[in-house]
Amino acid sequence: MQSFNPPVRTLMGPGPSDVHPRILSAMARPTIGHLDPAFVSMMDETKEGLKTIFKTRNKLTLPVSAPGSAGMETCFSNLVEPDDKVIVCINGVFGMRMKENVTRLGGKAIIVEDNWGEAVSANKLEEALKNNPDASIVAFVHAETSTGAQSDAKTLCKLAHQYDCITIVDAVTSLGGTELRVDEWEIDAIYSGTQKCLSAMPGISPISFGERAIKKLSIRKTPVSSWFLDLNLVMEYWSEGAKRTYHHTAPVNTLYGLHESLVMILKEGIENSWTRHQKNHELLRDGLEAMGINFLVNKKDRLPQLNSVFIPEGVDDVQIRATLLNDYNLEIGAGLGVYAGKIWRIGLMGYASRKENIILCLSALKEILA
Ligand code: PLP
Repeated sequence: MQSFNPPVRTLMGPGPSDVHPRILSAMARPTIGHLDPAFVSMMDETKEGLKTIFKTRNKLTLPVSAPGSAGMETCFSNLVEPDDKVIVCINGVFGMRMKENVTRLGGKAIIVEDNWGEAVSANKLEEALKNNPDASIVAFVHAETSTGAQSDAKTLCKLAHQYDCITIVDAVTSLGGTELRVDEWEIDAIYSGTQKCLSAMPGISPISFGERAIKKLSIRKTPVSSWFLDLNLVMEYWSEGAKRTYHHTAPVNTLYGLHESLVMILKEGIENSWTRHQKNHELLRDGLEAMGINFLVNKKDRLPQLNSVFIPEGVDDVQIRATLLNDYNLEIGAGLGVYAGKIWRIGLMGYASRKENIILCLSALKEILA
């Protein structure tokens, strides 16, 4: 075997996005013990930083030592008990995974379905809430990466609470890239990922649980089925004032990376980060539309960090993406599910959300499609 030296790419797909060089160099710093007092104080700062960008005061806010899917499983496995009725809103791939989580935990999933590319419909959710007064949880994806559609998390959470349900929200693609206010919108449990708009490496999932979610966890009749994701145990390591007992070996250097990402995003300001993503989206949109390329999602529900556009007629999807990768070192994403072969997903996430990347992408597409 020889050392692996990856090609240098520009990552403008649905994630992972480009990792900032400061984060890469932070991860190369010397590994210390995960119970070392210096590491523990970095953990505390990391939690504070996450609270700031989630816009929450939730004490139970921490980075799960695994990718976004583990954050998803943390929320579902801690909050769903066998026979619990959970309303799952599906408007793309990641809503389908939520349903899968519910059924594997022995819960009963009630599906609210919307077309791929559209936001979750509040009216349909209300209908489901009325028809299922025994439901206890509503779950939905804030930013559907498979389509680039954004749902109105504030309205959906408000509705759920009117019918005595708590909410589980997927913010893997939204955190850092688009407005997200956990406390103000009364989100009860949320999970995200580091590999999208935080400019960091894949492999960590920030989560936050509010009081309603903690209460549901505390009155469980059955133990959490996953030992690794059981927050009662994880908190013994992550909580301030807790014994900091060994639970698993934290991914020390990866957490240096997340810490550095938070240092950078706090310096920029979370609202400024949202604005940067929006402005860059507009720049890309204008360039694409000038080339006659159209968006899948209507303007109101469009995510600035994930631009889903229709592949022009007669154009070979696979060949174009291969040319972008081979000749321009530029990665854009393919469509998924019903949109496979029909759309491209162009990400402008975190450090990749920069003017020079937009110029590269537009000029490369112009050359290839000419
Ligand atoms: N949820 C959404 C909306 C995502 O976009 C992704 C990944 O792309 C995930 C969950 C799963 O995250 P991971 O791939 O880090 O496990």
